[in-house]
Amino acid sequence: MELELDLRAADKIWTQIMVDKMSAEKRSALMSRIRGKDTLPEMAVRKRLWREGFRYRLHPKGLAGRPDLVLPKWGAVVFVHGCFWHRHNGCSYFRLPKTRTAFWDAKLQRNRERDASALKTLIDAGWRLAVVWECALRRDADHVGELLATWLTMRDDSIEIEEAGSEVKDRPLIVSGR
Ligand SMILES: [Zn+2]
Repeated sequence: MELELDLRAADKIWTQIMVDKMSAEKRSALMSRIRGKDTLPEMAVRKRLWREGFRYRLHPKGLAGRPDLVLPKWGAVVFVHGCFWHRHNGCSYFRLPKTRTAFWDAKLQRNRERDASALKTLIDAGWRLAVVWECALRRDADHVGELLATWLTMRDDSIEIEEAGSEVKDRPLIVSGR
């Protein structure tokens, strides 16, 4: 009797493991679709820069972190960061999943640390960086383009462009793995 109960309990646990595994796989399939590059707002920003005469290369190999755009003439690179994958802390598009929370927490933290180390490498090599967050693109891609164009020609620091309140703003880039 006792053994039978144990077996039933074990079976239940096994079923639970399988269900979790399924949902984890489905989840990552879903998330990889969300992750896709070349989103429409991103294209809008690129087109705008191109129209204004800025020339760039896309996803160049051989630069740390594979920036989304590199503009050699301006000594600048641009990263477009998805708020979930790059763990945009304090952003409404970033929320840790409710299941397998520890797994996601560790994974996304690693992404963030990898980003920080790539950004540091590029800054040390003399590049100016702009990190454009997905939330800013979704809010006002046009304004993102404007901020980037101004930054490219008028300033020599590194910036981060994000949604702040209901506006799109830039601020000095602070590189941190946390
Ligand atoms: Zn964000």
